[in-house]
Amino acid sequence: MTAFRAAAHAVLWSLAVPAAAAAPPDTADDAGASLAIVNASLIDGTGAPARRTSIHIRDGRIVSFGNPVPPETRILDAAGATVLPGLIDSHVHFQAVPGAVFRQDSAETRRTLMYRHLRGHLANGVTTVLDAAIASSVLREIQAYLASGGVGPRVMALGPTFHNPGGYMDGPALSEYWAPRWRASATPEDVDALYREYDGIDNLVGVKVAATYGFGAPLDTLETHTPEMLDVIGRRARDHERQIYVHVNDHRGVEIALGLGAHALTHLVLDDPQAGQVERMREAGMHVMTTMAIVDGFADRHRPGVADTPRVRLTVPEVERETARDPAAWDRWGTTFMRTVAPSLPEWFARWYADWQLSEAWVASVVRGLQNALMRYHESAVPIVMGTDSGGWPHMVHAFHGPTALRELELMADAGMTPAEVLRAATVTPARMMGILDQVGTVEIGKRADLIVVRGDPLQDVSALANLEWVIKDGEARRPGEWMSD
Ligand SMILES: [Zn+2]
Repeated sequence: MTAFRAAAHAVLWSLAVPAAAAAPPDTADDAGASLAIVNASLIDGTGAPARRTSIHIRDGRIVSFGNPVPPETRILDAAGATVLPGLIDSHVHFQAVPGAVFRQDSAETRRTLMYRHLRGHLANGVTTVLDAAIASSVLREIQAYLASGGVGPRVMALGPTFHNPGGYMDGPALSEYWAPRWRASATPEDVDALYREYDGIDNLVGVKVAATYGFGAPLDTLETHTPEMLDVIGRRARDHERQIYVHVNDHRGVEIALGLGAHALTHLVLDDPQAGQVERMREAGMHVMTTMAIVDGFADRHRPGVADTPRVRLTVPEVERETARDPAAWDRWGTTFMRTVAPSLPEWFARWYADWQLSEAWVASVVRGLQNALMRYHESAVPIVMGTDSGGWPHMVHAFHGPTALRELELMADAGMTPAEVLRAATVTPARMMGILDQVGTVEIGKRADLIVVRGDPLQDVSALANLEWVIKDGEARRPGEWMSD
């Protein structure tokens, strides 16, 4: 990889400096150096039409557009390719390592793979992520690693996560796979203790609240917070100036979210909304995350090539791809999936039910239902944000960190959103949702230089995002594969 990278630099980088001027240091780590991306077709994310220009970057920020290129500037020739804002994935789980439960990975192996996942998101053009539920210790570790120059996307997070005893994430199957395990909140004192755990952590944009009854009749066996506890969680969120993000599975949960004044739902829901509910969501400014790819991926069991596409080979650890090819791993996942959503089911029924839930026909029908829900919200002007749920539950074997984002974008386009609408949902809208639009989400002067360069026109077809040429994070430009190693 090192040789490839050196060659890439030799061929594609040149120095636009006068002969007498001292050249800036020609190292791989000059993230603060000046850079100009020339011959770019820029889609800046503001809604303006694409324009041919050059983009000038200094100290990790965009400083100007157009000619002339400032002196002592390194040139990246986009050769007519499209430059866009870096993508934002609003729903990932760094604590979930695909296949780790099946392989019985040690804590050290999980940690090593987690750091590969940070790179995997970047290598797929995702320059900002929101971890939608993460233990404070893991989040502190990741933030310290990134602050000391470690390679990864901008990591925003929800914390703490509130669930109740006997509720979602406290179920006997799901909770045993999370390490470190999350504590349920039974009392106001528990709520305060969890807030204290996250004190002083950067980039927290909100808290997460589970409002989940189950996964559809006859599996609605989970308890939700009492109204009194919801009231405490909501008041403390306002005290701490954190937005509320709610995990829902149906429109009863949406009612809870509306009552909490929630900022976002972490998933689409399948059942029909109650009268006037979608309008109330829009009036409340509630965002909705898409997370369809993780459901679509349930059928990867029947798609043997999915672990071996060039993009997945380049950006996903080999052990995870091996596990995803193993039928025994999928059987194990199916059974634990059923234990999670319906712990009281008899074993024979759970097996039969898992086979059905992981069948291509069933998955296709659920994805179609989610796409219909997406368009219902979208056409009612509820803001949509792209989220993959990468990693998902810790005992899943699919939902790879990184390449799942492209699948999510394609599913959104397939649902009926235009490519421009899909791109907004993966750039400007989530940046606004998280309160970081002054830093990222569009390509404008003063913002962080988080950019992607793709061959083709994603405003015609979002699949062009697969033709990723360069990913630029804080002004540092690398080929996708180069982000996977130093
Ligand atoms: Zn999730």
